[in-house]
Amino acid sequence: MHVTVLGAGTMGHGIAQVSAMAGHDVFLRDIDESVLSEARNAVERNLQGGVDREKLTEAEMDAALSRLTTTTDLREAAGEADLIVEAVPERLDLKQQVFADAEAVAPEDAILATNTSSLSVTEIASELSSPHRAIGLHFFNPVHIMALVEVVLAEQTDDATEAAAVEFVEAIEKTPIVVTDSPGFASSRLGVTIGVEAMRMYEEGVASAADIDEAMTLGYNHPMGPLELTDLVGLDVRLDILEYLREELGERFRPPQVLKRKVRAGHLGRKSGQGFYEWDEGENVGEVER
Ligand code: NAD
Repeated sequence: MHVTVLGAGTMGHGIAQVSAMAGHDVFLRDIDESVLSEARNAVERNLQGGVDREKLTEAEMDAALSRLTTTTDLREAAGEADLIVEAVPERLDLKQQVFADAEAVAPEDAILATNTSSLSVTEIASELSSPHRAIGLHFFNPVHIMALVEVVLAEQTDDATEAAAVEFVEAIEKTPIVVTDSPGFASSRLGVTIGVEAMRMYEEGVASAADIDEAMTLGYNHPMGPLELTDLVGLDVRLDILEYLREELGERFRPPQVLKRKVRAGHLGRKSGQGFYEWDEGENVGEVER
């Protein structure tokens, strides 16, 4: 299968890597040459890590790398594609344009998938001449580690496109879940729900941040508590998602005051050094004082 990945950033290089490992011929396209060479280096580093841990052989790594072509030329990348996955920045107008440009050069039966994490797949597909072959493939970061892919059905997606997308996800050894195009899909909507309730509990003084987090890590076997996860994702990112979900789904997603206050103060979590916890060189060094 010929897989084209558009955008070679955080997500794009990971999608290219897992596709090449599954035996597909992969064409990774970016508009920036330096991003492409960094993407190839990142894939090599990841695969070498796998060889070091004896998860794959040197020969498998070399074979996967030989199946990966990087290019800035859209026609070279997508001219013979069976599946195109876009992973360009999260802007509706850009994604619509990237889909339309890809449709113009791709074979008539190529599938067009978007890795959007929050935009409407239906809206991204709406500018295409044949939107029935558009679908969402929502990967998680880091792509080569995370097992889940949400297969998001736009209003226009037909059954053949859904079946081919599910088959692709299974072939790259990920687990697909099929969701209709709705705000927050399944994963973000549930994840954010736990996060927002944890913030309200913190605000009401139900328990300390660390104890709320332990309720989920020790009580429910979550790998990380909801407040620490909010620090990792970024408080500003969480606030944006909540505002969007509130607009689309109602008041139960109203952002808590504590979140707004912290964002206004520039306390954005790990990336700014402080959120619900203090961070030093990327490490959690303890809860902030209230
Ligand atoms: P990123 O900024 O790391 O990478 C985007 C890349 O797209 C950049 O290298 C940029 O040069 C390139 N680009 C811009 N315009 C282009 C074009 N016209 N053609 C080809 N390439 C182009 O972004 P990312 O974090 O990889 O996110 C990409 C998408 O994946 C977004 O929709 C995001 O919401 C989604 N997503 C991100 C994550 C995450 O954790 N980072 C998780 C799930 C989904």
